[in-house]
Amino acid sequence: MKAALNVENRESQPESRSMQLTSPRPVKPLTGSNQQNIAIKNNYLQSIYQRLSFLIVLIPFLGFLVALGLLWQSEITSLEIGLLISMFALTAFGLEVGFHRHFSHRAFQTTTAIRIILAILGSMAVGGGVLYWVAHHRRHHQYSDRVGDIHSPHLHGDRIGGRLLGLWHAHVGWILKGEISNSMLFAKDLLRDPVIVKVNRLQPVWVILGLAIPAVLEGILTVTWMGVFRGFLWGGLVRVFLVHQLIWSTNSIGHVYGSRPFDSKDRSTNNIWLAIPTWGMSWHNNHHAFPNSAIAGLEWWQIDPGAWVIRALEIVGLVWDVKVPTAGMKEAKKLRR
Ligand SMILES: [Zn+2]
Ligand SMILES: [Zn+2]
Repeated sequence: MKAALNVENRESQPESRSMQLTSPRPVKPLTGSNQQNIAIKNNYLQSIYQRLSFLIVLIPFLGFLVALGLLWQSEITSLEIGLLISMFALTAFGLEVGFHRHFSHRAFQTTTAIRIILAILGSMAVGGGVLYWVAHHRRHHQYSDRVGDIHSPHLHGDRIGGRLLGLWHAHVGWILKGEISNSMLFAKDLLRDPVIVKVNRLQPVWVILGLAIPAVLEGILTVTWMGVFRGFLWGGLVRVFLVHQLIWSTNSIGHVYGSRPFDSKDRSTNNIWLAIPTWGMSWHNNHHAFPNSAIAGLEWWQIDPGAWVIRALEIVGLVWDVKVPTAGMKEAKKLRR
């Protein structure tokens, strides 16, 4: 079943399902208590998140360097390429179709079992639990490229130094600051869902599982401890490093370089070359123009693997209420130059 899209960015107000074509909700200026509310103000908690974030960024990067070094000694095997690609595809899918389109934007509805699978796969990408991710992301949409946006590349000045700093901040710098967006404000609907809260609480288990699966698989198939290590390296750390870089590229490159067909009230862009590895996340200007759309590639030529899977699941009845913008909605938001 198709559902016309609510073009307003109202993720923090789940009960709203307007089908009218209205202009985006005005952004609340960040002052006083509002500024306090969008992030958790707890220095102790923030320092823990900061240290944890540092490790989450550093360890996969070191793993990637070790893997590159090992390539001088021995070739990557076809099994390892298979583990790398399949673990990459599954976890990036969990992020884009699960954390992003389903949990952050409620772009489609699905069964509890599929919600759990999507939440677990997304958690295996080691980008934080579903509540943490959704809160940051909805905040990003609410304040996109304005003060309050947690990872805009455009808030550090227009000089070359400021632009480079902005790119760094949007890509990874914001994570290293350990800021925690307020789930009570941005993800209240998910906090009310006991199943998702439970999956979120088990986040460390999913991270370990995501690293252990390729290690165990290669260990069993090669019957060596070296196989366990190499599976952990290629299907685990290298895979996490690559998922991180590609998903973070949407925050950095996806708000700086690329085309802007729609008036999205921010500086988001479309980039075709990132469309396949990000499951369609890189149609980011389309996405900011129609944040609740389950389909990110809005033209026939815009490759959107995430949408293909959503459509396939819709055909077999496992997904419903798939939101897409009408032709009129798209026309109304087209940028005319
Ligand atoms: Zn964005
Ligand atoms: Zn989004």
